Amino acid sequence: MTRIGHGFDAHRLVPDRPLIIGGVTLPFAHGLLGHSDADVLTHAICDALLGAAGAGDLGRHFPDTDPSLAGISSLEILRRVHALLSADGWTVGNVDATVIAQAPRLVPHIPAMVNNLAACLKVGSAAINVKATTTEGLGFTGEGLGIAAHAVALIHSR
Ligand code: MG
Repeated sequence: MTRIGHGFDAHRLVPDRPLIIGGVTLPFAHGLLGHSDADVLTHAICDALLGAAGAGDLGRHFPDTDPSLAGISSLEILRRVHALLSADGWTVGNVDATVIAQAPRLVPHIPAMVNNLAACLKVGSAAINVKATTTEGLGFTGEGLGIAAHAVALIHSR
């Protein structure tokens, strides 16, 4: 069986936080606010995978009220999502994601993000596609108030 899932996430940009997207720490004056490292791309991918498996969402499995998850790397959360799916007999087919940010410029960092994500999901880098776009100054992403990400994922049963 093959199933598809979709994920969306957004986090607020604030001073005095590192900006971590796809497990890559980016040089930038602001970072994303959240209980974990607030890695918006990785969160969207986790939700796409959980959605594909019919396993609810990130908040259900990794609540932001859980003190053990404070400051956790979202790559670790992605590894746990992969383990959860794997235990249910799912393998990852492919993931396609879009990060929506006015700044910083993400393109130079995409290969490193892809490598991080692929390693967590135990797939080759060709199975992971990450894109970046601005919103031409429009909306909360365009005004630099936050960063958002969409993802879709295909999974196959073994
Ligand atoms: Mg999130």
